[in-house]
Amino acid sequence: MSLNAESTAFRSALEVIRAVEPRVADAIGAELADQRESLKLIASENYASPATLLTMGNWFSDKYAEGTVGRRFYAGCQNVDTVEALAAEHARELFGAAHAYVQPHSGIDANLVAFWAILADRVESPALKKAQVRQVNDLTEADWFALRRELGNQRMLGMSLDAGGHLTHGFRPNISGKMFDQRSYGTDPVTGLVDYDKVAEAAREFKPLILVAGYSAYPRKVNFRIMREIADSVGATFMVDMAHFAGLVAGKVFTGDFDPVPHAHIVTTTTHKSLRGPRGGMVLCQPELADQVDRGCPMVLGGPLPHVMAAKAVALAEARRPDFADYAQRIVDNAQALAEGLLRRGGTLVTGGTDNHLVLIDVSGYGLTGRQAEQALLDSGIVTNRNSVPQDPNGAWYTSGIRIGTPALTSRGLGTAQMDETAELIHTVLSQTKPGANPDGTPSKAKYVLDAAVADRVAKQASDLLSGYPLYPAVDLG
Ligand code: PLP
Repeated sequence: MSLNAESTAFRSALEVIRAVEPRVADAIGAELADQRESLKLIASENYASPATLLTMGNWFSDKYAEGTVGRRFYAGCQNVDTVEALAAEHARELFGAAHAYVQPHSGIDANLVAFWAILADRVESPALKKAQVRQVNDLTEADWFALRRELGNQRMLGMSLDAGGHLTHGFRPNISGKMFDQRSYGTDPVTGLVDYDKVAEAAREFKPLILVAGYSAYPRKVNFRIMREIADSVGATFMVDMAHFAGLVAGKVFTGDFDPVPHAHIVTTTTHKSLRGPRGGMVLCQPELADQVDRGCPMVLGGPLPHVMAAKAVALAEARRPDFADYAQRIVDNAQALAEGLLRRGGTLVTGGTDNHLVLIDVSGYGLTGRQAEQALLDSGIVTNRNSVPQDPNGAWYTSGIRIGTPALTSRGLGTAQMDETAELIHTVLSQTKPGANPDGTPSKAKYVLDAAVADRVAKQASDLLSGYPLYPAVDLG
């Protein structure tokens, strides 16, 4: 029997790897087997296409290419220029952006590039101006001191972590929280929605240099036209981090006021979540920020990863095909079906539902912490992650929420009927799990009790459900 191209390619690659370090080849094979078996509801994960995956394993990995297309600090970058230019072109066309920078290695890195570009564009600093035009030798020690003082401590207003914002939007565990003076806007305590009047009030009081929109765990759309008006009213640069929902923008599910690209000065994203590309980041911006954005490497980034930029070009080409719009719409349809299934069974959801790719379950209604719920679901073959809910009494470690998302299961082909079955499995586990106790009898936020027979039965049902939707059906590793 002759093998198809994908099976031949992956089998051959594993054979070559196995000859050097068989344990790595085994781990790669085991990872595919595990992914095939698990009901993956992690909102930030997906399954890249075989073409995208294969594009990362080649000679581009060996190439240094600091600089940008046509202006490199290394010789022999003509082929890297080809793939970087292609990825940028696909990104501009796909999102209707004036400029695209495809070098960031991840979403965090893309945000750092954006922060630097905004600081360099906006902060009034004669020393910085000199440094930018490369008169660095003319700068005195006092100039450098002034430059550091002026660049630090600028103001950023972003969404609070427990309302669904991201660490890189000015929170302490990330450098952004150390270099910026940050304030957050939350969500309405009753509806759970962004209250634009409150954002405007906070912006008027705080006068941020940067207004950030974008989230990791907010299950609703954000009106970027209104956010831009707020930014303009206080002279802030408006930045959107669309890492989570880039696929919904690419697939034209988020249009008009909900498409960040025409409204923001600068947009950052990851390429591996709903966009379904390789692990990486990207920055899209208005022409006036392009020059600063292109300084990302070596300003804050290590050397570009040409093999990943090539894979970005492939994945972005895929996202420009008409069937990607259908995929993006199905992600949202599935998330809504999952939300409805949970609500119908008595679950409590932050904001009462979803209009994007994710659902945030408040598991305190089941008497559990997020940590207990996450582990009980994992025991039952359902992979999710715990997440804070607004004003979470259990903090960021134990949490009271479970975040689930549909990009990965939608890539496997599951539809709304299967989402209802998934809701049933989740509800069964959460309603059968009881909080556990510490050895001294006090209540534990981590321990839980779930009958192994229930966990096994749900895991079997999850596996049966997935068996109708094989992952990478064309890939047979033998
Ligand atoms: N921005 C947002 C909104 C995210 O949700 C994430 C990751 O979860 C990131 C940035 C960081 O992305 P990465 O893990 O690629 O650095």
